[in-house]
Amino acid sequence: MTPTMLQVTDLGHTYQSKDGPYDAIDALGFTVAAGELVCVVGPSGCGKSTLLRTVAGLIRPSRGSVSLHGTPVDGVPEDLAVVFQDYSRSLFPWLTVQRNVEFPLRGLPRAERAARAAEALAAVGLERAGRKYPWQLSGGMQQRVAIARALAYRPALLLMDEPFASVDAQTRFELEDLLLRVRREQDTTILLVTHDIDESVYLGDRVLVLSKSPASVVAQLPVDLGEHRDQITTRASDEFVELRAKVAGLLQGVPQTEPVAP
Ligand code: ADP
Repeated sequence: MTPTMLQVTDLGHTYQSKDGPYDAIDALGFTVAAGELVCVVGPSGCGKSTLLRTVAGLIRPSRGSVSLHGTPVDGVPEDLAVVFQDYSRSLFPWLTVQRNVEFPLRGLPRAERAARAAEALAAVGLERAGRKYPWQLSGGMQQRVAIARALAYRPALLLMDEPFASVDAQTRFELEDLLLRVRREQDTTILLVTHDIDESVYLGDRVLVLSKSPASVVAQLPVDLGEHRDQITTRASDEFVELRAKVAGLLQGVPQTEPVAP
């Protein structure tokens, strides 16, 4: 049986704001198996970032627990990497692309750092950009650098928070395909948050649909679109169209005719 990489149990978080307490997430539970790519989709403001920050150990949850390969998350885990939406703020403009990718590897010998960075940059098609600075690259290329940096770290779990929301549609498709290819090649475990229904179905092995705030898991839909997906044929397939309609219905609170495993 595939081992569980991430276990989220009965998670809840209440923010204390000046208007009083606010429940952002509640009674939220799911698991991610090693090597799985799980997409979390939910309406804007439902608590997706709160969930992600809790899993990343950046927020201590008010209730419930998170564990990564069996170890309770209490602070930012060593073997976790996060790719955020805003690449322009996540890369250091004064460091070259190569140095940016090597940055989280500071504890390793120099030769290994260089080798890992070169391998990760090649995986995202940027083998020739190592000496450039981030500001000399397009937005899509900068996000590739951010992905390369995460991959070079070889995290047990890669968290992605709306990673392709700030690039144009064509680049978004390219980056989605890049992600599917590298996770196939490197067997990375990924939890990706998006508000884009189509993206969640296109990328996921499984889609977790969240309710409105306070977010809990409304449904978990397995995606049987195979390992090799294609922006044109996959998105036009009956399975894809059916699944996206199901996710859209769940997000709008439309009752489902068949039961959907929570
Ligand atoms: P999403 O990522 O789905 O857009 P968030 O997790 O960012 O949602 O936010 C969920 C809810 O919690 C929102 O209503 C937001 O206003 C509220 N919220 C987020 N951060 C804080 C905070 N630090 N203090 C108070 N409320 C917050």
